[in-house]
Amino acid sequence: MPRASRPKPSPHLKDLDDRIIECRGAGHDWPQLKVGFLPENVRAVPARDGSFQMVITCRNCGRERTRTTLPGGYYDDTIRFAYRGGVEGFAARPGSDRAALAKPDYTAELYRRMAENATLGGDSEDARQAMKDAAAAGYDMLTGQPTVRDKAAAVTRRAGKK
Ligand SMILES: [Zn+2]
Repeated sequence: MPRASRPKPSPHLKDLDDRIIECRGAGHDWPQLKVGFLPENVRAVPARDGSFQMVITCRNCGRERTRTTLPGGYYDDTIRFAYRGGVEGFAARPGSDRAALAKPDYTAELYRRMAENATLGGDSEDARQAMKDAAAAGYDMLTGQPTVRDKAAAVTRRAGKK
């Protein structure tokens, strides 16, 4: 079976907070709007003219998106969301190397971090069995690299030859 080598992190993303990688790579965790009481993380800020600012907060990174309604609270499809806030560093500095990156770059970094934590494949019986099989064969299924124990043994062998 061909094994992929562990990808290197983008130098512009490797030190970023996980939440930035998650939200930029897989999308924000916005609460769904509901009829009736406003859900958690949704606020409606009334204005004098009878319109409202709907303020919706990402449950993961804390970034806010805001849209103003028509008077009476009605939806105006010409009004776009405005975005602000979130985890420090969420917005890349304009003109920086990171500002030139796109969603797929963040998604790749998200998968890389997930693989590092051995959660890719989920917590299923099939995933656990595949991990056991790979470990028995001396490989980390997610990275294609020899298992840590084998690396330690290799280091010991090398040291012993000196
Ligand atoms: Zn978010």
